[in-house]
Amino acid sequence: MPVKFRAPRGTKDILPDDIAEWRLVEETFRQWCSRYGYREIRTPTFEDMGLFERTVGETSDIVQKQMFAVMPYGSRHPVGEEERWILRPEGTAPVARALLEHGLLQQSPLVKVFYIAPIFRYERPQAGRLRQHHQCGVEAIGSPSPLLDVEVISLGFDFLSSVGAGGFVINLNSIGCLNENCRPRYRQALISFLQSRERELCEDCQRRLYTNPLRVLDCKEEKCREIVKDAPISVDFLCGECGEHFDAVRKGLDGLGISYELNGRLVRGLDYYTRTVFEFVHPKLGAQSTILGGGRYDGLIEELGGNPTPGVGFGCGIERVLLVREANLQPKTTDATVDVFIAVAADIARDAALKLLYELRRAGIRADCDYLARSLKAQMRYADKLGARFVLILGDEELRENAVTVRDMQRSEQRKEPIDKVVESLSALVANNS
Ligand SMILES: [Zn+2]
Ligand SMILES: [Zn+2]
Repeated sequence: MPVKFRAPRGTKDILPDDIAEWRLVEETFRQWCSRYGYREIRTPTFEDMGLFERTVGETSDIVQKQMFAVMPYGSRHPVGEEERWILRPEGTAPVARALLEHGLLQQSPLVKVFYIAPIFRYERPQAGRLRQHHQCGVEAIGSPSPLLDVEVISLGFDFLSSVGAGGFVINLNSIGCLNENCRPRYRQALISFLQSRERELCEDCQRRLYTNPLRVLDCKEEKCREIVKDAPISVDFLCGECGEHFDAVRKGLDGLGISYELNGRLVRGLDYYTRTVFEFVHPKLGAQSTILGGGRYDGLIEELGGNPTPGVGFGCGIERVLLVREANLQPKTTDATVDVFIAVAADIARDAALKLLYELRRAGIRADCDYLARSLKAQMRYADKLGARFVLILGDEELRENAVTVRDMQRSEQRKEPIDKVVESLSALVANNS
């Protein structure tokens, strides 16, 4: 019979067999964040739509085409609740919103946080691109220092290298600031250049040319890619301060021995970026090659109504990390599910088995029993499948003697023990075993 329901298009179930790998990636990320002094933050899955219009940008692809709206089913919002809610399409704006709302940026001049969260974007599902994917990311808010850009990049570098996702190339660029001698001047030069080739651009880019010309630089259409090869690049138009900042970022990375490639076409698809932008691209990923991306966003907090506060961060796609991880660094999947299995040899022993199971678990031992009325032989096979080191057998004889038969599956030997002593003796054995 065909199943009636499937996971929605562009989403994926993460099954018990996959979890070891997910946890390994998440725990490695947490570890690195903690070494770098970042603390975890969790924000709601949905936010006010205005938050993303204000920060990511009304002309960005995310806001124009990729947001999932959340609304009460079959009705309008109740009176007084006119917010338009959106499933989180990126990680930075919600974190910035939360830090502002709770005054954390006032309490401390530099706030460093990380998150691990699902991200929702309405896209045409394809390899490496889902409608719900997961990102781990960091935000460091409060300092304009280029050394903080270097820290964030090196954190991404350390995390990906140690989780088995090495082999990436770091692309680096600076898109300058809003000072009129800086990005606006570049923007003008870029528009002039693109206007001379306007007819050759794709339809999207003909529109972007006037709304968001920098986005033409990362258009995926072949004809646009060909044209922008000759386009002016932003680093040639940086104001003095942005130039110094970019030099310091590069010097910092050089000092740490982290290599990168300058990429004048790298702009990132979000409006809030200023100065440094970077992408870690991985050759194994094909067209969707970015595994981690981020940059500086010095105007973001002010855009949300806070005092001018500079910041820098990155987001990293966990599914993509899993796609490129080295096979030899896969977590062990042969791990036993339980330490102890209780096999019931007579129905009359079932109550005693349940009580024993309860006590084993409370003693910190991973334990399970049969719920399918299987034969003793089938229970033993099942215990073996679960990887149980010990099987406790409870039958008529054991009940009469207030005892339990303890079978050591590794050594294939068994003995009887008083039932009220077995939790204690197994605790010691299981502790030694693990
Ligand atoms: Zn500048
Ligand atoms: Zn285009």
